[in-house]
Amino acid sequence: MAIEPWPRRADGEWLIAARPLSQVVAEVGGTPCYLHDRARIDARIDLLRQSLPNGIRIHYAMKANPMPALVCHMASRVDGIDVASAGEMRVALDSGMRADAISFAGPGKSEAELAQAVAAGILINIESFRELALLARASDTLGIAARVAVRVNLPFELRASGMKMSGGARPFGVDAERVPELLRQIGERQLGFEGFHLFAGSQNLHAEAIIEAQSRSFDLVTGWLDQCPSSPRILNLGGGFGIPYSAHDKRLELAPVADQLAVLADRCRRELPGAHLALELGRYLVGEAGIYVARVIDRKTSRGEVFLVVDGGMHHHLAASGNFGQVIRRNYPVALNRRTGMRETVSVVGPLCTPLDLLADRVEMDEAEPGDLFVVFQSGAYGRSASPREFLSHPDVIEALV
Ligand SMILES: *Cc1c(COP(=O)(O)O)cnc(C)c1O
Repeated sequence: MAIEPWPRRADGEWLIAARPLSQVVAEVGGTPCYLHDRARIDARIDLLRQSLPNGIRIHYAMKANPMPALVCHMASRVDGIDVASAGEMRVALDSGMRADAISFAGPGKSEAELAQAVAAGILINIESFRELALLARASDTLGIAARVAVRVNLPFELRASGMKMSGGARPFGVDAERVPELLRQIGERQLGFEGFHLFAGSQNLHAEAIIEAQSRSFDLVTGWLDQCPSSPRILNLGGGFGIPYSAHDKRLELAPVADQLAVLADRCRRELPGAHLALELGRYLVGEAGIYVARVIDRKTSRGEVFLVVDGGMHHHLAASGNFGQVIRRNYPVALNRRTGMRETVSVVGPLCTPLDLLADRVEMDEAEPGDLFVVFQSGAYGRSASPREFLSHPDVIEALV
């Protein structure tokens, strides 16, 4: 089954961390809320550790879910945290993760952010020649050599990816053709060169596409070894491991990806001694461990169609409404927290005055009444922090780790 089922009682009550959902909702202060299941996150990390060859480092890309308690939970379980702003860097440092295992990527890093990162001793993935100049200045001022890696805009795309972030003209990283020049300047300015960051794209469910991107990334780096100011110590191969969001999606097969990573790890030992391979994963680690829960406020019939109006919506969960970069809107897996014996086709909408505020479009569910809890699964990543929470000035959403 593509979407792993959560445990459920005979009466339809879902269980989270072995407790009835309605009890957990009452504990956190009601709806709407996000609930993230620590045990599910741990199970996912265990699965990866068991499947991947030894020595592959697993980083958490915290933009997927920057909730501080969750980042703290990750800190003792992953090998590194990847941040995309000074704000995220703060949370990552607070989490207890060692500074030398934190890396910073993202276009448009400000001078202040770069200086903060140098002072903290975290690894900076350089995305432009401008950043290079600012890092050299920050290094001088602080008397600390900036630790840098080169983020490469690869000369190819990650095929069949939900979000492509490499190949062609992109605002991310430095074009592969200009990497030799960047390496030369890193050497000239005596920054602390550590390696490469090669992130091809996101939300990919095709093992062959991931394998191809990782192999080609590795080959590309081997072609630059002569030009590196010092031997690379880290090869961050990105990730892009996707999760199924609907019954149409086929789960990513880990075994072939792991086999190919074993080949690359072997090549890494021979061709780049002293370097290690890392993956940076966001949604794959946390996406399937979180649910969004809202309460049915109203039940309306309009020209023969039933609408459930709930107390949450796109302002908390933009992705479930289909407005977070999706080309085609597809329903997330959803359910009621009760078995009522009668099924019906309904649309579930939020309280915002816009037709975009649609959490489920004509789905079959148990017949609901006002007061019922409505659950959206696969909601652990790109939820609260990726949503326009101010839009229409409704209350913010509660988020808890259970
Ligand atoms: C967004 C992002 C990630 C995480 O992507 P997921 O699809 O959540 O795994 C990792 N690395 C970089 C550079 C990113 O921008």
